[in-house]
Amino acid sequence: FTSATIGALVGLSIIALVLSLVRVEDVTLPPAVKYGMVFDAGSSHTSLFVYQWDSDKENDTGVVSQTLSCDVQGQGISSYANNPPEAGNSLRECLDKALQVIPAEKQRDVPAYLGATAGMRLLREQNSSAAEQVLAEVAKTMQEYPVAFRGARILTGEEEGAYGWITINYLLDSFTKYSPKAHTWLRPEAADIFGALDLGGASTQITFMPEGSALSQNEGSELTLYGYRYRIYAHSYLCYGQDEMLKRLAKELIVESFPSTRVQQPCYPRGYEEPVSLSWLRASPCTDRDPRLAPGDSAVTLEGSGNASACRAALRSLLNLSACGHSQDCALDGVPQPPLRGHFIAFSAFYYNFKFLNLTEGQPLVAVREAIEGFCSRSWQDLSSSYPTENPKRLPRYCANANYILTLLLDAYKFNESSWSNICFQRKAGGADVGWTLGYMLNLTNMVPAEAPARLKGHSS
Ligand code: AMP
Repeated sequence: FTSATIGALVGLSIIALVLSLVRVEDVTLPPAVKYGMVFDAGSSHTSLFVYQWDSDKENDTGVVSQTLSCDVQGQGISSYANNPPEAGNSLRECLDKALQVIPAEKQRDVPAYLGATAGMRLLREQNSSAAEQVLAEVAKTMQEYPVAFRGARILTGEEEGAYGWITINYLLDSFTKYSPKAHTWLRPEAADIFGALDLGGASTQITFMPEGSALSQNEGSELTLYGYRYRIYAHSYLCYGQDEMLKRLAKELIVESFPSTRVQQPCYPRGYEEPVSLSWLRASPCTDRDPRLAPGDSAVTLEGSGNASACRAALRSLLNLSACGHSQDCALDGVPQPPLRGHFIAFSAFYYNFKFLNLTEGQPLVAVREAIEGFCSRSWQDLSSSYPTENPKRLPRYCANANYILTLLLDAYKFNESSWSNICFQRKAGGADVGWTLGYMLNLTNMVPAEAPARLKGHSS
């Protein structure tokens, strides 16, 4: 060997060694982490959720986790109808926070969505150009950030219900399970699929998989997820969210006692007074169409009388149950609903109100009724001194909201003493918040495939 040949051989071995090291590194590199973000633009507030998952598992079930949730300061985006650019600006703080948790080199690939719900559905009904401007402004702000903006739009109520249902069943791993023994994915038991109950400020949704296949075109939708078909019933009731319900009740009480300017409100605590103006009622499409509303903008004071049963009766009368006649397959306002089936997760305001009242521990219905009656009988003076740290806007409304929850679940949705125990009041599952946002992102990024997940060789988990 000449010294040149030896030199060349040594050089080649060094290159080979380096290449083999590089290959080893390639193999042992941890899988890349991917991120996605979704704004939930609700009627009363907006929240941002950032999710993450390993890129090599994206078509598996239950692999996405929540990295961040951020509450946007101020009211929901529909409250910026008169100042749309501020709706966009309101999102900046949370967008900045999101960029702090997502590595800079990944940000450009992060799909970013904004979905608006019932507050924006109402604004669109009332003033469609204002709704469009608000959406344009939030989109503009999101596009200023170095993420992959994928749209800002208003979800239909049925989409909201269906995505909440997907989120729950994804997080609880109920869609499909891999059986290591059988080396295959197993068909989920229908009884293991959860229904979803969502209560917002302006609308409420119920979604579940009914028995059989008797679903009407409107409410029924068929999804194919992980190789299996699911026929689900989803219905959303606009103006039946808890804030719009209380507005509707206020209007009814005011109209019934016209021309009195002091009106008894059985759902508010004794000693609590709330001044309201007729223009407040005219500002919502849920209450503005009543010809009995007096013209002008007179002020009325609602005086709490703390009477749970009168409160429930007053709220029940707003459900228009008589439109269902004697049909059991009907919820409210003549809307058909198949018989309930299986277990349900009740989240958002179902959870917030019951959590405050310590009613999320699976108590039987009698105990729940008793606790609500007891709470409603307490005076405002007692409540405000007993809960000094509670939000003073929320505290007077827990009695009203809890009674609304009871009448909605029992009289409209048709839960009873025994099926009550099938409802689980829950805010989180598998570390993530329960809501429509995760299901929405999974669907739009094709992460819930129609086919069963592939099992790669050598992949164990
Ligand atoms: P939306 O903004 O449409 O999602 O409605 C959420 C509803 O839940 C509104 O009526 C809010 O006032 C209420 N809410 C939101 N967060 C809380 C909380 N932490 N405690 C009690 N109520 C809440």
